[in-house]
Amino acid sequence: MGSIAGNDKPHAVCIPYPAQGHINPMFNLAKLLHHQGFYITFVNTEFNHKRLLKSRGPAALDGLPDFRFETIPDGLPSSDGDATQDIPSLCESTTKTCLAPFCSLLTKLNNAAPVMPPVTCIVSDGAMSFTLKAAEQFGLPEVLLWTTSACGFLGYTQYANLIERGYTPLKEMSQVTNGYLETTIDWIPGMKDIRLRDLPTFLRTTDSNDIMLNFVLREIEAVPKAKAIILNTFDALEHDVLDALSSMNPVIYSVGPLQLMMNHIQNEKHTLTSSSLWKEELECIKWLDKKEPNSVVYVNFGSIAVVTAQQLTEFAWGLANSKKSFLWIIRPDLVAGDLAMLPPEFVTETEDRSMLISWCPQEEVLKHPAIGGFLTHSGWNSTIESIVAGVPVICWPFFAEQQTNCRYSCVEWGMGMEIDNNVKRDEVEELVKELMDGEKGMKMKEKAMEWKKKAEEATAPGGSSFMNFEELVKLLQ
Ligand code: UDP
Repeated sequence: MGSIAGNDKPHAVCIPYPAQGHINPMFNLAKLLHHQGFYITFVNTEFNHKRLLKSRGPAALDGLPDFRFETIPDGLPSSDGDATQDIPSLCESTTKTCLAPFCSLLTKLNNAAPVMPPVTCIVSDGAMSFTLKAAEQFGLPEVLLWTTSACGFLGYTQYANLIERGYTPLKEMSQVTNGYLETTIDWIPGMKDIRLRDLPTFLRTTDSNDIMLNFVLREIEAVPKAKAIILNTFDALEHDVLDALSSMNPVIYSVGPLQLMMNHIQNEKHTLTSSSLWKEELECIKWLDKKEPNSVVYVNFGSIAVVTAQQLTEFAWGLANSKKSFLWIIRPDLVAGDLAMLPPEFVTETEDRSMLISWCPQEEVLKHPAIGGFLTHSGWNSTIESIVAGVPVICWPFFAEQQTNCRYSCVEWGMGMEIDNNVKRDEVEELVKELMDGEKGMKMKEKAMEWKKKAEEATAPGGSSFMNFEELVKLLQ
């Protein structure tokens, strides 16, 4: 096996934060590095490894002779769950418990010669900064993939400033709803007309010991210890923000959209073709095949967001009353609290023009000609995937930097409209109709198509992301 692996290859250990929206871009990056001649060890948590075995089948995780999968425990009580783990608990437990098993893994990999080359670099998620301590211990260079937009990342870098200036912690939680979050922040370089409510949501706390607030502070503080930051965005889309970030340490490489960079390596065979933790229900593609171009609304709130039974009902009736066809992905754990059923009358009324499933191959769905618009929670992967497909969005941001992505989609990129957090069926109906048939919807579609073209240019040979990726490879080789 040693001869197949090629002992002189650079060996990158790629470790995503253990949630779907982090695994997908890290997996793409790992495949791109593999294509550049890197030996890859891809590290999942045991929990997610089990889920991948279930959703993709055991053979999928065999890997290739020079692309191997390894696991470490996440430190949470073991379970066979099929839902996204609680994010604050996961942040706390990875920070506190993952360093030791990660170091043991690095030692094991280094002792495996001649089966594989020694580890030469670490490519870690920005939200797994404990890995920097391992890098220091093993004398390895490390780069961090922040799976956020550049604007979201810039928002996180301002948390220390926001605390110093007294914006957060909040005096009382009523400030979240009493208009305080409308306060304009005019001192962040690279961000125009931003309001407190557009910044990542972990500042919405009254507790200076809040887990997520402190987690962000720690992860941002660790950033200068990395050799580089990688962002899944492109220069034309976030020029001002990237410009503002360029004065920061270390250097930032915007190499996205990664899924378009993947076009350069399409012929490569890989056992694990998708990194979906849920089983994709492929019948939706056949259903879309029967629909007219631009006639279907795609509704998906990603892998973490939860809605109340009341919100689910408002979305359902808004979609029903719009009279449009829709594909709605309802994860088994989407509804908080008791398992709320969709109103039976809603199901009867819309069954000839709707499809409800629990998980889909999203990128394929977005690229389908039948899709006319995307009602999204504005997760960064969903947003950039929508840009890649040239699909305009209705944004209903849930948490984290989704609020920032929503603001940029609507105001800076002109391809989105926002739904009030306190969602009402009439607004859903009105915005869906506008998105699919209205003049504003048409303009948003044009904008989305313009961004799609610019994304293609950025990732074509000679484009900004293409060139940045070459630089990154040189840095890591
Ligand atoms: N996704 C998918 N099928 C689904 C829902 C989501 O493949 O039914 C993928 C989606 O393409 C994206 C990721 O899961 O790559 C979700 O990441 P995002 O940043 O949009 O949101 P998060 O889940 O982190 O909130």
